[in-house]
Amino acid sequence: MIITDKIVTIINDAEAQIKDDFKRLDNIALLNQKKVLEAFQNNNVSLRHFSQTTGYGYDDIGRDTLCNLYKDIFHTESAIVSPLIASGTHALTIALFAVLRPNDTMLAITGAPYDTLGAVINGDNIGSLKDYSINYKQVDLLNGKIDIKKVLETIDKSTKLIFIGRSRGYEWRDALSVEEIGNAISAIKKIHKDVVIMVDNCYGEFLDTQEPSDVGADLMIGSLNKNPGGGLAANGGYIVGKKKWVDQAGYRLTAPSIGMEIGSYASGYLPYYQGLFMAPHVTANAVKGSILMGQVFENLGYETMPKAHSGCNDIIRSIKFKTKEELITFIQSIQKVSPVDSNVVPYPWAMPGYEDEVIMAAGTFIQGASIELSADSPIKEPYIAYLQGGLTYEHVKLATMYCLADIFKF
Ligand SMILES: *Cc1c(COP(=O)(O)O)cnc(C)c1O
Repeated sequence: MIITDKIVTIINDAEAQIKDDFKRLDNIALLNQKKVLEAFQNNNVSLRHFSQTTGYGYDDIGRDTLCNLYKDIFHTESAIVSPLIASGTHALTIALFAVLRPNDTMLAITGAPYDTLGAVINGDNIGSLKDYSINYKQVDLLNGKIDIKKVLETIDKSTKLIFIGRSRGYEWRDALSVEEIGNAISAIKKIHKDVVIMVDNCYGEFLDTQEPSDVGADLMIGSLNKNPGGGLAANGGYIVGKKKWVDQAGYRLTAPSIGMEIGSYASGYLPYYQGLFMAPHVTANAVKGSILMGQVFENLGYETMPKAHSGCNDIIRSIKFKTKEELITFIQSIQKVSPVDSNVVPYPWAMPGYEDEVIMAAGTFIQGASIELSADSPIKEPYIAYLQGGLTYEHVKLATMYCLADIFKF
């Protein structure tokens, strides 16, 4: 690619506009790095914690210490972090089944939970919540905010668990701030102190100096293919929160008689520790990339989300393109600028679980890892691309240049 003077000017102008946003992010990253480092120090992390274990994994100090790190960093009573959790969806599913029993109601208060939870809640004869006679209710967001009045009206005696999704998923809305989540939790707990509040924190970790677990969430869940894996963890998920519920999650992850007493990992834990240590910095880089991309497209007259200077509560950048062709070129540019599979050209395709055709760019080291630069979009109007990740700011900056060259021929 030839980086023309015009492209350099566009990037420089945008960078000048977002200087203060970057300063704020540097400060958040510093405070989070301190929090993570202190957890490593307090847990006396050493070489032996990274070792592989085999068989049942009794007394696996690598596993147990990793759990303690998450517990300390997220300020919770207990934590499960494990490569045996296959994904964020798996972690969320474990947590839902840990809390809910037949005839209980799950109440989602930020609209529909992430797409992959649809069948977990409502599927037929696949062991869904519905198959176990667990009810589901939903309160949609009102102008992008939690409709707390409606939530309080909807809670009844059967409401066992309230589900909050912090990130935007595939929706044209902003992610929720930790403060807003905290306000909703306080309002609910004031009246219903026993209801269990669970937050899907995917894409949210280390974007703020506080996490939902600091503002009253009973359970908080995320994927190691995203922020807390730091781009190094090869898989896994975490569940942190009140000991009572995390214990229940352990019984679901293994067996009710066993919980977290077993679980070995023959590949060793090094990437999980090192990735966690890197996570505050990597996440800040991803967000800086998102802010640059957003500013550049905003300057070119495109609608993007979050709006300039409004802060980021997840790492996703939504960009509304004017035509299907622009959208497809954008996704193809992201693939082209990837370190892996840069020669592959993505096209829209029917994917299991999606209504519309989808186009995806994911030239990542870890398959599908969305803390690495990746983008995807359902092919439907309005033509919105969802971009996320980037292990280094420089990579996302280069990606922005590629997009300018490919879409606008600058
Ligand atoms: C990615 C994601 C999930 C699911 O995580 P996977 O690891 O992809 O299964 C759930 N919720 C949100 C908001 C996500 O972004």
